[in-house]
Amino acid sequence: MSKFFTSRKIFDNVTQIGGLGGELCYLIEGSEKALLIDGLTGVGSLKAFVRECTDLPVTLVLTHGHVDHAGASFEYGECYVNPADVALLYEHGDVDKRYGFVMGGGKPEGAFVPKKEDVVPPCAVKTLPVQDGDVFDLGGVQIEAIAVPGHTVGTMVYLDRARRVLYSGDACNANTLLGLPCSTTVETYAKSLDHLATYLKDIDKFYGGHGLQAVPAYIVDEAMILCEEILSDDDDRFETEFLGRKFLYARKFDGMFHREDGGIANIAYVMEKVYNK
Ligand SMILES: [Zn+2]
Repeated sequence: MSKFFTSRKIFDNVTQIGGLGGELCYLIEGSEKALLIDGLTGVGSLKAFVRECTDLPVTLVLTHGHVDHAGASFEYGECYVNPADVALLYEHGDVDKRYGFVMGGGKPEGAFVPKKEDVVPPCAVKTLPVQDGDVFDLGGVQIEAIAVPGHTVGTMVYLDRARRVLYSGDACNANTLLGLPCSTTVETYAKSLDHLATYLKDIDKFYGGHGLQAVPAYIVDEAMILCEEILSDDDDRFETEFLGRKFLYARKFDGMFHREDGGIANIAYVMEKVYNK
């Protein structure tokens, strides 16, 4: 039992690992190699935890450079990341930022409270480029990289075509944050979703970076409709604060990110980042 991590098998060769802030990553094993998709926040040794899960050599690949996805890059010292997110990886490597993420909102009574010394300190990382169309061959298991710029400029998602599953990071969910300093415009995101949609005939569900359960792949169809509505000034423009920032949400929702109309996708954006200039 780890104080820092939880895990469960979602397939016989895939382990979903959770960190202290509810952030998730995925360890996929082939016959020769293992792929770790995302590296949580870097509080506690994810590398040691992964070593208990598999004896295979592990390659770390990131969906994007955010604080809650890139932490283990400072333990492995090497990771695949889209070049557009490398600066973000270092910016979010800050110890206070990462400790703040897992402590965000405080901890319930009786819960394990990590110390700041538990944060793996940042270091120089050998960043290897991952681009749209790249394939990771793990031995009998192939994982394809798809670029979905939006949440961050360098956002990548990873497809296991044989399992019909997409590991989607923060690319498309019930609270898709655009409108961050590192995000693209809604117009660019709409094009990314058009590209992702060409894969949907091969995908049943998405496992994301937050929320233990998979979401159905049709969330992309919903998100495409929301983009159209935002771009034609026909969305709910529901003003809400999240993580101390003011966003407009395409659709109204309750405190649990459940949309009033029953749809699952939502997009948080800011007016300055709707259209490409
Ligand atoms: Zn993110």
